[in-house]
Amino acid sequence: MRVRALPSLTDRRSQLLITFVINDRVAIDAGALAFHLQGEALLAVQDIVLTHVHLDHIASLPFIFSELFADIRMPVRIHATADDIERLRRHIFNDVIWPDFTRLRNAHGELLTFVPFTWREPFEVAGLRLTAIPVTHTVETAGFIVADQQGVCVAFTSDTGVTDEFWAALNALPRLDAVFVDVAFDNAHEAIANVSCHLSPRLLVGELAKLRRTAQVLAVNLKPLCRERVQEEIQALNLPAVQVAALDVDYTWSATSPPAEALGGG
Ligand SMILES: [Zn+2]
Repeated sequence: MRVRALPSLTDRRSQLLITFVINDRVAIDAGALAFHLQGEALLAVQDIVLTHVHLDHIASLPFIFSELFADIRMPVRIHATADDIERLRRHIFNDVIWPDFTRLRNAHGELLTFVPFTWREPFEVAGLRLTAIPVTHTVETAGFIVADQQGVCVAFTSDTGVTDEFWAALNALPRLDAVFVDVAFDNAHEAIANVSCHLSPRLLVGELAKLRRTAQVLAVNLKPLCRERVQEEIQALNLPAVQVAALDVDYTWSATSPPAEALGGG
């Protein structure tokens, strides 16, 4: 499985807008997707899985259909909770903020289809098996467990503060290669992290204590203003398996990948 965290448009080191692309084919969130990928690379992403509808996770979504209008040959599938689908219909694709592309057609037919997922029930997308687990955020938000047909398994917390069910679900997996974890704020901004339901490096340590297995831990969603400090504070944890994720770089795991180094107390 190949996973790439996309950078934001202007600053390639910043993850102001959130998107992960898996195997060039599936996107987790669409904050940066259509700002970063164009043409055939964007058309290749036929499934977009939304963790929640905060703007930094959906910002580029409306532009997919305006920019690629004539080129979309198969409807793009947008997977989200039924409630989030209703929110997108009501607040974005409402013929006021943006055209209702669910009703428009090009020469090939429909442009997009909403596909609701159910919490904790695995669903198949492009040869991957995804499971949505609720995490702790200011709005309804899904963390995801993504497994491929070789058994490789990578998890994404999405935006979360201190949470329990997600880590318990990871502990129950037969295999876990890596987890992309929200570490939005540095320790000095922990009060803001708590109010906005995100993590800091200090809070991350508490979360990793719930993970009873070894896996590569990649910190993501760093707020641009805190990025350097979060990097320093994560380095200072001195846990070899825990790093800040590089942006616009492919991380690859296979059935024969060696296990992550011990987390050192996880
Ligand atoms: Zn959010």
